[in-house]
Formats: sequence, C-alpha cells, structure tokens
Amino acid sequence: MTITRVTETRFTLPLSFLYPSWRSICGAELGRLLSPASLDVRGEEALLSVHTWVVRTGGYTLLVDTGVGNGKHRPFSARFDQLQTSFIARLAEAGVAPDQVDYVLLTHLHADHVGWNTQQVDGAWVPTFPRARYLFPHAECEFFATRAGVNRRMVYEDSVRPVIDARQATLVPDCGGEFLDGIEFHPTPGHSVGHMSISMRSQGEEALFCGDVMHHPLQVYRPAWCSTYALDESRARESRQWLLTRAAERGALVLSAHFPETSAGRVTRCGDGFAWRYSA
Ligand SMILES: [Zn+2]
Repeated sequence: MTITRVTETRFTLPLSFLYPSWRSICGAELGRLLSPASLDVRGEEALLSVHTWVVRTGGYTLLVDTGVGNGKHRPFSARFDQLQTSFIARLAEAGVAPDQVDYVLLTHLHADHVGWNTQQVDGAWVPTFPRARYLFPHAECEFFATRAGVNRRMVYEDSVRPVIDARQATLVPDCGGEFLDGIEFHPTPGHSVGHMSISMRSQGEEALFCGDVMHHPLQVYRPAWCSTYALDESRARESRQWLLTRAAERGALVLSAHFPETSAGRVTRCGDGFAWRYSA
C-alpha cells in the first residue's frame, strides 16, 4: 500500500477561535503544549491544510476526502467560496488521472471534504471521477434534509446529489463496516452527525484516516478540547478518545484531514494522555 497527500489549500486560524479552551491555558502549560507541536503554530495562529489522500492498494486507486473543489458557491465561508486551485493538475503530478480512481471514500460530507466529488461541465455539476464508486456515511447524507442542515443544502446539491444521480454512490450504514479486504469504516460521530474514520490494513500495519476527529495536533495532547466546529462535544470527545487509544495500541499511522507538515504521524501513550510525532 502507498499513501500520497495531494494538497489543495493551506490557511491559518487563530487558536482562540479554533479552540474555545485555548483562552484558559496558562503559561507553563502553553510551553509544554507548544514544544511538541510548535512547528504547527505561528504566534497564536494554527497552521492548517486541506488535502486529499491518494491510496494505492491491491491494484486499486482510492481517494480519501476530496477537499473544497473549484467554483463552489459557499456563502458561509469566504475562504472556500468560489475557490480556484490547480488540484487536478497536482493529482496528475501524483500519477492519478480522474478516470483511474476506483473508489472515493468520504469521512463526512462537509464542504471541505466533498468538493472535488464533482466539477462543473457545461453549467452542470458532474462526478469528477467517472469510474469511481463513492462511499460515504448514510447519516451524513440524511443530515441535509433536517432543519439543522438546511443552510448547507447547496453542498448536497452540487457535490453529493450528482454522484447519487449518476448511480455512483454507496451509503455506509451507521454501524460502519468492512467494504474491501482490510478497509473498514468506523463510526466516530461528534464533529458531525455521522462522521466516520477509515482504517486500512496492509502487511501487518494499520493506516487510520481520522477525518475531523482532530483538526490540529494540540488535540492529541488535549483530547478534551473540542474545536469550534463540533456539533456534539460529548460524542466528539468520546470519538477522539477511541481513535487515540486505537492508534496508540496498534501503532497505527494516523492520517489527518487538516494537520500541517506531513499531516500524518503516530500517537503514543504519554502518562495518562497521548503524544504525537509526525511521520515523513
Ligand atoms: Zn474538515
């Protein structure tokens, strides 16, 4: 199995905005937290990335999460509204043409994870990966039909519905499960209603794609901290504890959706908490 990151965009957010708990931190604690994670922090801004993971395994090419996309109308986010990047050219540099993608796996259906599901052709949004089967959590799809999901409905319309209409979608049940040999969805709700993490086994090793269970390595050291984007904080904490425990016990390679640097690393036990180390 090989795993390659294809970056779409990078940005910074004030830590005091991203983590409401940040304000409560004291100077000594700050020093302890920043030393292991200092590469990711400039002043009090967290560095963040949006990217897609390309996985090649068993003759298949898979993508995990598809970023923001080009030309999407996102009135709720100035950063993502009408974004234009050369993502498809970067994907080609990684050796992947759109028609070579066999599977697209989505941890959840937020705007920065589903964007390249589709692209605009002659005024219509069509699947970017014409041969791919797209797998995503059923509960995420249903959320758009609820009152809480109504102001994100355009994300469904331009990035999810076209995939369903093209009969390329497979909805993952709420319990998760294995869909290809060694590739498994795990329910990790909280950040969003049906968020799932994805594990892949190869030659005795595990890769664990954590989506938005964590946004920044600080949360490895402070798993009780929820980002400002958490829908259900208590379930988000449970999911983070589950994921960090699994990663530490198995020595899994954790592949994040938004960490800077290589965005990938390993979690170890440290006292009664956890520590993070980036992998190359
Ligand atoms: Zn995200």
